Amino acid sequence: MTREEEMPDWEGAQEFYGKYDPKDILGRGVSSVVRRCIERKTDREYAVKIIDITSEHLTPEELEEISTSTTQEISILKAVSGHPHIISLNDCYESSSFYFLVFDLMKRGELFDYLTEKVTLSEKEARNIMRALLEVVQFLHSKNIVHRDLKPENVLLDDNMNIKLSDFGFSLQLDPGKKLRELCGTPGYLAPEILLCSMDETHPGYGKEVDLWSCGVIMYTLLSGSPPFWHRKQMLMLRMIMDGNYNFDSLEWQDRSDTVKDLTIIWTVLASVRIYYNYRRAKPLTKQVLIRDPYAIKGIRKVIDGCAFKVYGHWVKKGLQQNRAALFENSPKAFLFSLGSDFDDVFEQPLE
Ligand code: ADP
Ligand code: MG
Repeated sequence: MTREEEMPDWEGAQEFYGKYDPKDILGRGVSSVVRRCIERKTDREYAVKIIDITSEHLTPEELEEISTSTTQEISILKAVSGHPHIISLNDCYESSSFYFLVFDLMKRGELFDYLTEKVTLSEKEARNIMRALLEVVQFLHSKNIVHRDLKPENVLLDDNMNIKLSDFGFSLQLDPGKKLRELCGTPGYLAPEILLCSMDETHPGYGKEVDLWSCGVIMYTLLSGSPPFWHRKQMLMLRMIMDGNYNFDSLEWQDRSDTVKDLTIIWTVLASVRIYYNYRRAKPLTKQVLIRDPYAIKGIRKVIDGCAFKVYGHWVKKGLQQNRAALFENSPKAFLFSLGSDFDDVFEQPLE
């Protein structure tokens, strides 16, 4: 290859590094890393998603797939940019090894981390977030775009706590009437039809509606702090999703209004599932109750959960097995079990 032919491959990277100074890491994905960066000329801060299309750990097919899906991600971002609740793509560069996608910097980070800090959100705060999220989904669907990876990690917060939807890595523009079959997304947020069609060749496939299922999962999670479908064994979690097997048993739901519970039920359209819950039971607070079951008292529960999230919150994100639901299992052994066998030793150590 002559130098002239090589040049265009380098140009993109050179242009990016000429214009921006990359700084600390804000987030990581399978083949991408997101860094804060500074525009040299203006000193303004941005976030750059650097997508590696050469990684030694991936097969040529996987790399080809990343390259195709990044091109798709860029074209969708360009098509939806400008919406008040969608992250703005400001600049974009491509070289033979990397893509550089420059976004507005969301200093408040992910809704996921905000929720971890707060444990649960008030109905008012959840309502504002859900209204904005549903407006974005309606906007995307009106353009026949399906996001396919809606989750609190992909919802970012700006300085004024407005939400901005990001990560269009699994997004697609659908031809009218076209159905999808591909199994993609994040396990806890997958709609049952995505799972069903991957197991049954005669299944007609899924459409844009899968985003609404994920929105329901997000709403449930914001209100109770813990996702509706979770099991340490992933197969059992997928079974729960396919059976529509969720409940309002957790203590967090006792403090929630009837309206929001009704909305959750209607939303997830699990009409065939009989849901039993007992949320009107008022418990008088006595010293005995406090000693016997401190976790049952809202104020004290908030303090306990807040401390637990402070201590364990950073582990929650590390992998599929480490779900925030584990923090709500209310048993240290169950939670440590969910972190993997490395932690088994903990139980063999005498307490200091
Ligand atoms: P992936 O496809 O690897 O999940 P994302 O686009 O979701 O990539 O980015 C990964 C993480 O990087 C996000 O979850 C978030 O924590 C951080 N991030 C992404 N974009 C921004 C941004 N514009 N401002 C601040 N943080 C961001
Ligand atoms: Mg993401």
